[in-house]
Amino acid sequence: MGMTDTPAASLRLPSVDALLSCAPVQALAALHGRRPVLAAVRTLLDEARGSGVVFDEAALPDVLSSRLAARQAIGLKAVYNLTGTVLHTNLGRAPLADEAIQAMVAAAGASAVEFDLAKGRRGERDAHVERWLCELTGAEAALVVNNNASAVLLALNALANGKEVPVSRGELVEIGGAFRVPDVMRRAGVKLIEIGTTNRTHLKDYAEAIGPKTGALMIVHPSNYAIQGFTGKPAPAEIAAVAHEHGLPFIDDMGSGALIDMAALGLPAERTVQQALADGADIVTFSGDKLLGGPQSGLVVGRKDLVEKLRRNPLKRAMRLDKVMLAALEATLVLYDDPERAVQRIPSLRLLTRSAAEIRALAERLVPGFAAAVGDGFAVSVEDCQSQIGSGALPVDLIPSAALVARPVAAKGKGRALTRLAAALRGLPRPVVGRLADDALWLDLRCLEDKAGFAAQLKGLGL
Ligand SMILES: *Cc1c(COP(=O)(O)O)cnc(C)c1O
Repeated sequence: MGMTDTPAASLRLPSVDALLSCAPVQALAALHGRRPVLAAVRTLLDEARGSGVVFDEAALPDVLSSRLAARQAIGLKAVYNLTGTVLHTNLGRAPLADEAIQAMVAAAGASAVEFDLAKGRRGERDAHVERWLCELTGAEAALVVNNNASAVLLALNALANGKEVPVSRGELVEIGGAFRVPDVMRRAGVKLIEIGTTNRTHLKDYAEAIGPKTGALMIVHPSNYAIQGFTGKPAPAEIAAVAHEHGLPFIDDMGSGALIDMAALGLPAERTVQQALADGADIVTFSGDKLLGGPQSGLVVGRKDLVEKLRRNPLKRAMRLDKVMLAALEATLVLYDDPERAVQRIPSLRLLTRSAAEIRALAERLVPGFAAAVGDGFAVSVEDCQSQIGSGALPVDLIPSAALVARPVAAKGKGRALTRLAAALRGLPRPVVGRLADDALWLDLRCLEDKAGFAAQLKGLGL
């Protein structure tokens, strides 16, 4: 190392105990815990020993404080979802209503999740949401599990374990990578009988597939893909009639499962859960965090005797919904007591029905601040764009919107400039997630409601 005569820099280092006993370090231990403070102090001393640099004891509290804050920062951060996909699975799908958030906070401690307060004895976990699901959909019974994938697995296992279930080849879909209808059926102990073709399946295909081993008929919402041209499949009510003629339950996996008429809101039409039940489905499964706008959950509504079979299945216990999610779901369902209020209060519905004109006006207000923040390297403008519903709603169903767009000015190194800008936006205290397309960064403002918070932190964009 250096030319110093000092035998070792470590001779000048204070002891761990001495450092730990000083008041500012004690305060950090109270805040972050003694063990991580001790480990951080040891690391700092080791670094000083290794580098030979004189240990700066006065700076210790600040250095420790920032290291511990970084170490213990919560990684699951709130973000601004400006991707243009409203129900973005990687960004947590439906943002929850204030009412749902308050209910989650209230239920977080000890709460009457499985306790009947009127009778003073054990209660039914799903009762809080079952009464709402029944009232809103007209179903006889309901239950909830962790997500719709579990709901489908549970329904198949409870109703058709060891039996055959015919499904149209056009509905053997993959949703979000890991949920593949044939795999889920196998895991449920059900034998898939493929019927029809990719583009066309007829009623007689269902009828002909039914035999002594058939356990149920099932239809699956194709969700994230569309086939066009020479296509066709029977109406759900016709399939239900065939199932019932043979005494079989009819399962409808709706995917999103809207509770209100989306077309009346100016959105792409989506069959409602009420419609599925009216069409004769005995069991309907759908997600809580897609179009419904609630927390991650899988909702099952339908015939009482069949729902009871699902409830008694051991898988139900393994898939049960947490109390905090139950509280959020109940509060979200309560908002549907008045559909107009649901659209105003449930963020996903509110955001999906925002007009392009309103979004453009917001973009016009924010564009000067954004242009100043990204600097001279980018040409910034407000442009029309198209939002997507996301989470299994058809990618072809687009909703007009408006975006802040940043295009690199220099002809060379565009890709690098855009990657840097996107990274800087993601590095903000509340990360901003946009979309890169056509040599530009797009921030679709459909999902931006906290415009003050967004504008305020832009000043710190370190480009
Ligand atoms: C999304 C979807 C699922 C899976 O639901 P999760 O709530 O994501 O588990 C299952 N079936 C269909 C048709 C879907 O669209």
